[in-house]
Amino acid sequence: MEHVLVTGGAGYIGSHACKALKAAGYVPVTYDNLSTGWRDAVRFGPFEQGDLLDRARLDAVFERYRPVTVMHFAALSQVGESMVQPGLYWRNNAAGSLTLIEAAVAAGCLDFVFSSTCATYGEHDNVVLDEATPQQPINAYGASKRAIEDMLNDFGAAHGLNAVIFRYFNVAGADPEAAVGEFHRPETHLIPVMLEAIAGTRPALTIFGTDYDTPDGTCIRDYVHVCDLVDAHVLGLEWLRAGKGSRVFNLGTGHGFSVREVMDAARCVTSHAVPHGEGPRRPGDCTKLVSGSTRAEAELGWKPHRSSLAQMITDAWRWHQTGHYEQ
Ligand code: UDP
Repeated sequence: MEHVLVTGGAGYIGSHACKALKAAGYVPVTYDNLSTGWRDAVRFGPFEQGDLLDRARLDAVFERYRPVTVMHFAALSQVGESMVQPGLYWRNNAAGSLTLIEAAVAAGCLDFVFSSTCATYGEHDNVVLDEATPQQPINAYGASKRAIEDMLNDFGAAHGLNAVIFRYFNVAGADPEAAVGEFHRPETHLIPVMLEAIAGTRPALTIFGTDYDTPDGTCIRDYVHVCDLVDAHVLGLEWLRAGKGSRVFNLGTGHGFSVREVMDAARCVTSHAVPHGEGPRRPGDCTKLVSGSTRAEAELGWKPHRSSLAQMITDAWRWHQTGHYEQ
């Protein structure tokens, strides 16, 4: 069977990708330094512990498995943290990815699927965010991801690297079988934080900013189910293997929900109101990030099945109640 190197396979999205890859007939090889991932989340293929910045270790892993494709999820991904510790983001995300890309090219593994982000777009008033929208990130997280996109383009021109770049909107939900799920320590993302507040394992959710220029004053995001998102990655891998070349795809549903709307949906799913307070804006947050593209549907044949707000929160709530990793 063919191997796929999954960096960050012990993390939230990477672990779901490993499950989807195994179901599609591949052997997902997780490469992860466990800085934010979990050994317990590696359930669908071999595990190789290592850091993106460790070129010798990467070379040994490429040599051992000879993967047909790299799926690169490993990254730090907190907007707020990136504003106060940008060095972490430039070193781990940008320099780490450069090391990985060089190792892949040296090993002759020229198909690369990359997790980018809508945070690369930044603030755009009344502009539909599609793949041609100028990338003007307003936080170090988005800037580090945009830099990696640039690297992939340059390595494509010079070395024939083919990259499918996915710009994710807000990923949510969990595996419906709760074999894997979202588990960050500390947790900062909206839906799991809300569920922790409902479960009483944290006192309350703080709404970061109620004075945005949106109908209810809170930020608007486009939420996509992690299982739908990883399905797109398998399609992206097949796209590359069919020789269709480098391409960028937004992954979102095109529907935006405010923080207060997400709280309402959580109340409906769990039958409990979200305990909450209101706080100042979080530095680096954009007012509104909603995908305006259907390219992934049109070209990859991607169809999101589980990305209603109610389904994502239902799956996240099931995982919250039944699943966990050993810390
Ligand atoms: N948010 C919030 N309180 C929290 C966490 C998030 O109000 O404790 C808001 C945040 O300001 C943003 C949205 O929820 O508008 C989604 O934030 P998250 O951190 O989940 O994802 P991001 O959009 O930063 O990738």
